[in-house]
Amino acid sequence: MIQQVSAHPNIYRIRVDLPDNPLQYLNAYVIKGTSGNLVIDTGFNRPECKRALCQGLQELGIRLQPDTSLFITHLHADHSGLVGLFAQAGCPIYMHPVDYQYLVDSQDGSTWKAAEDNFMREGMPPAEIKTQFANQARTFSPDPNFPVNAVHDGDCLHLAGCDLQVIHTPGHTPGLCCLYLPKEEIFFTSDHVLFDITPNIQVWYHMKQSLQRYLESLQKVRDLPVRLALPGHREGDTSIDGRIDEIRAHHDRRLAEICQLAALYPHSTAYDIAPHMTWSMRGKKWKDFPPTQKWFALGETLAHIEYLVDHGTLRCSEEQGCRYYDLVRKEP
Ligand SMILES: [Zn+2]
Ligand SMILES: [Zn+2]
Repeated sequence: MIQQVSAHPNIYRIRVDLPDNPLQYLNAYVIKGTSGNLVIDTGFNRPECKRALCQGLQELGIRLQPDTSLFITHLHADHSGLVGLFAQAGCPIYMHPVDYQYLVDSQDGSTWKAAEDNFMREGMPPAEIKTQFANQARTFSPDPNFPVNAVHDGDCLHLAGCDLQVIHTPGHTPGLCCLYLPKEEIFFTSDHVLFDITPNIQVWYHMKQSLQRYLESLQKVRDLPVRLALPGHREGDTSIDGRIDEIRAHHDRRLAEICQLAALYPHSTAYDIAPHMTWSMRGKKWKDFPPTQKWFALGETLAHIEYLVDHGTLRCSEEQGCRYYDLVRKEP
């Protein structure tokens, strides 16, 4: 399903459904120029997504050939999964090198192994870690053997007849890059700013303090003049500053909640704390969470715990390979 979201320049959204995934669908954007096109993000590496993306491109009259470029905003498989289609056709592919390196490292499983070992130290039972092997982020990930044009913060790309500014916003992933059209005030926010849901913040082995970095990255784009914000999932909006303030407030509430829980349950692991937190899986108890959601929830809990430890609010002690947390002072 395609929808035109801007006439000058010509920008379309291809809705790529993500079956059995709470994100529901990915927005792949296409800037259609007179002498070339730009596609932003792809959907998972699975037949349903491939069909939706290819059908959308076909409806737009775009053939995959070297005058069409692909910009991958970040490493997550719902954004990068179908990169192989573009690589095979000789399309130039743009991505931040840190996220590209994660894709390369995940090829031999080392990225996932490091995450599993870490979650084990945070109290996740080994049986539950095993259930993660069916995680869609793993099963529908791309083949990372593609040539990449590395992009960095502040780069200006001239693609599909547009001047696009690369804004590196580490947090959701270490290498997430948004694209901004300064003249038109159009902002492709990817998963950095979402409007109907809150972007998930995890812990990463190449990036310490992901929540702190994320909050800094929110601030970095808060005052950008934006006429049209185009997010990676769900619907967009124009009030980017208002939404950023809401997301900030959400993380403040989470930090305060963890402080309360750490006071209530001293000397707990992150895995002990996570089930008591407020999650948006309405009506579902922690034990009924799908395994993937438990994984994301524990990662999100940990990102907040890491922030509190770094700010001296919580203390971490390690005993027999497991980490326990205690409250040092009441405020985040
Ligand atoms: Zn993402
Ligand atoms: Zn996403």
